[in-house]
Amino acid sequence: MCLIREALKYGISRRTFLKRAGSSLVTAQLLSGFGTVGWAATSPSVITRPGAGNFNTRLVLLGTAGGPAWYPGSNRVSASTALVVGETIYLVDLGHGATHRMAEAFNASIFVNTAGGKVEETQSRFLQHADALFFTHLHLDHTADYPALLLVGQNAGLGSPKAPGQPARPLKVFGPGDRGQLEENKSGYQGTIVETPGSSTTPGTREMTNLLWQAFAQTINDFTLNNGWLDFTTLVELHDIGWTEGSDIPIPLPRRGPLDPIGQCAPYFIDPNTTPCPPLAPFMVYRNPANGVSVRATLVDHHQVFPSFAYRFDTPDGSVVISGDTGANTCGNLQRLAQGADVLVHEVIDEAWIEVLAGTGVPGALIEHLNATHTKIGEVGGVAEECGVRTLVLNHIVPGNAPVGHLVKAKRNFSGELIIGEDLMQIGVGRARSG
Ligand SMILES: [Zn+2]
Ligand SMILES: [Zn+2]
Repeated sequence: MCLIREALKYGISRRTFLKRAGSSLVTAQLLSGFGTVGWAATSPSVITRPGAGNFNTRLVLLGTAGGPAWYPGSNRVSASTALVVGETIYLVDLGHGATHRMAEAFNASIFVNTAGGKVEETQSRFLQHADALFFTHLHLDHTADYPALLLVGQNAGLGSPKAPGQPARPLKVFGPGDRGQLEENKSGYQGTIVETPGSSTTPGTREMTNLLWQAFAQTINDFTLNNGWLDFTTLVELHDIGWTEGSDIPIPLPRRGPLDPIGQCAPYFIDPNTTPCPPLAPFMVYRNPANGVSVRATLVDHHQVFPSFAYRFDTPDGSVVISGDTGANTCGNLQRLAQGADVLVHEVIDEAWIEVLAGTGVPGALIEHLNATHTKIGEVGGVAEECGVRTLVLNHIVPGNAPVGHLVKAKRNFSGELIIGEDLMQIGVGRARSG
């Protein structure tokens, strides 16, 4: 299996790996294989991966690396996760490489019966099943493949009617609104500050999307005028979650008075630079009565990146929380959101790697960012324990080539099951279907 292969790559024997891993580190399913995914593979380019095809709800890890980088020797792509409920796909983040992984996971061959027998569909339609996309924050290792989804997605059914003549079914896109305030210059940068035509230096999800239409105007206009494609702007339904005027979903920020620090947590929100993660109660972002899925969010501490969200998906089969990028101290926000969830998908950074990096002379501001705005391997188990979740899944692994021998230390202070995420790993939520 892949974990053992990874361990071998770092010179750890199978016996030592299993001993280090401990009996509750990974599920027996993971070590023995989940069985076959329920997607038919008919060409060598469609890879059938170990998966959890017999679960109605399943988590599909698309990209499990964090940070704007390709890590030497690692094939992890950047942060992206799918939650599949029945046939419906929910996406969280789209880092670089994510759309390729999405196709690997979902672009199965489909056969239709015709008078001449069974033939393979020539047109991919798998994105007809995508209901909503959620951005935790707008860093590029979470958004770089968003243009690819918007531009190429239509040809795989994104936002399109299920049949000609039926109404379009736009992908609902939820993400941070305009930050409303340029962040502090911690690195002493003297170059260009990029500004949008609307004079924002911190555009939110809605404006970012509208600017993508403008940036790709030539190809979009060609495909609509020349090739008969649908109006691209109708393929998505945009929802800014923010604190500035015009936000579609306001963040219920505590604003009861002046800053009165308690420990490291500010009880009140003042502005994004001063108080990026005030304590607050989880709030509803989306509900789909058709399949019983609801999504709530909270603020997490990604320091200067504001707003930065964690999301909780409640489904009829169980609950999954995805942390986003966050430091270990969210002033209780993540704990309130995740309490009692089945699965917590949490980011992690290898503290040993930060130490090595610090010795190479990289800017101090970067080291400060890595230390303050991410959760170290040695800390994440304690966070998961406080959240009271049954299973902790590591994703957004920094660096992407972190040795398994380091990652297994995430089990420290956590009494539940630990799964070290890998691209295209599928994890069943709730009870497996019988038969
Ligand atoms: Zn990130
Ligand atoms: Zn980030």
